[in-house]
Amino acid sequence: MTYSTLIIGGGPAGLTAACFCAQPAIVVERLASPARKLAATGGGRCNLTHATDVAGIMAAFGRQGRFMAAALNAFPPDAIRDFFDALDIGTQADPDGCVFPVSQRATDVCQALEQAARDTGTELRCGVRAERLLLATDDEATDTPRVIGAVTSHGTLHARRVILATGGQSYPMLGADGSGFALARDIGLTVTPPLPALAGLHTLESWPATLSGIVLEHAALRLDVPGHPKAWLTGPVLFTHKGVSGVPALDLSGTVNSLLAAARDAGQPPPHTVTLRLAGQAGRRAADWRACFETWRQRHGGRALHNLLSGEFPRAFAVALCTLAEAKDLAVARAKKNVLETLASLCAECPIQVTTTESWDRAMVTRGGVALDELDPRTLACRRRPGLFCAGEVVDLDGRCGGYNLTWAFASGRLAGR
Ligand SMILES: Cc1cc2nc3c(=O)[nH]c(=O)nc-3n(C[C@H](O)[C@H](O)[C@H](O)COP(=O)(O)OP(=O)(O)OC[C@H]3O[C@@H](n4cnc5c(N)ncnc54)[C@H](O)[C@@H]3O)c2cc1C
Repeated sequence: MTYSTLIIGGGPAGLTAACFCAQPAIVVERLASPARKLAATGGGRCNLTHATDVAGIMAAFGRQGRFMAAALNAFPPDAIRDFFDALDIGTQADPDGCVFPVSQRATDVCQALEQAARDTGTELRCGVRAERLLLATDDEATDTPRVIGAVTSHGTLHARRVILATGGQSYPMLGADGSGFALARDIGLTVTPPLPALAGLHTLESWPATLSGIVLEHAALRLDVPGHPKAWLTGPVLFTHKGVSGVPALDLSGTVNSLLAAARDAGQPPPHTVTLRLAGQAGRRAADWRACFETWRQRHGGRALHNLLSGEFPRAFAVALCTLAEAKDLAVARAKKNVLETLASLCAECPIQVTTTESWDRAMVTRGGVALDELDPRTLACRRRPGLFCAGEVVDLDGRCGGYNLTWAFASGRLAGR
């Protein structure tokens, strides 16, 4: 038979597409069950969208975000919440705007979405991997051969429309393993080289690893790279056995990987690093720290700097900063002006050199994917391959932490399905 719609990938984008597409429809999913990654999102709680407007979602995707306008205007965060409400998945927003199901269980979201897709009559075949997209041979003479189905591990499927919703390349054990990029490349589409994003950062310096497990609750990070915005990203920064993680670090990781890849591609000699600045307390500038040290000098001149600084930061971080400033064990009254100057600057914005990030097995999303100019943003149809539509993370879009990536998966799934 020829299906009206063949959807490749049973993640949030593919299942949402199944809720809105022409029937008869079929979803093929390579794993034994659908939406495995969705079940792992938000630490098992599923941060399914963000309490903001369309502009707020687009801003979380940087300059590329404008591409999403049509998909998001048709299915903005409020409509996504209404959609899940109608599936008996009530949602609530945390004070920071992150939206979760009231039950706090990602598996509830998965089950509801899978059931909604099945209720439309869509057939769901698991354990089936799409291996190649089928192009209509009678159109081969033209520049725009049509996609008419896919060859799968379990035979060939024909369809009038095919939706590629295979996800990216991150967390391959949860399904998406980059095979969607290969399917797209095979039929001549441009795929922006994929890089891990929303991943922990590895540092050249070894001192962060010695603080592994310690969290700076009200910290901030920023890029220190000429030509790049120097805006601080605030939030908890966690020291790991390889460097730093936490929301600001994760949010910078895609850009860090792009910069490292650009340095490699330009043939720059290694080691390739990207400099970041870490503020242990967001918003406290070097001048504020100098004033603080002066007060200490007047009131507690005999006390060691690292002990005083332990009142401001976790002790191990305070000791690390004092060690970097060569002020460890030094009484504040005995510290020379240049030492206090260095320490104030380290407290306000300590430089760290990032050499790489966590890899595909730990990155939460993929930067890169099917190039935006291959797609019509009003429909998500492929411009050069009629019959094919793309949705979700397979598209070259990646957003910050906070429910933005799932918002795109749902909104693009709906638009591609329609
Ligand atoms: C640990 C973790 C936590 C996350 N938490 C959040 C969060 O709280 N909020 C948020 O917004 N985002 C979060 N994300 C990101 C979010 O999960 C993804 O952006 C989203 O799942 C992408 O949806 P998708 O449908 O495009 O792709 P996926 O969810 O990756 O689904 C793609 C599906 O396609 C299948 N597939 C792939 N190739 C083939 C093939 N060739 N044939 C057949 N099937 C195939 C895969 O098995 C998979 O099931 C998180 C990611 C991770 C890894």
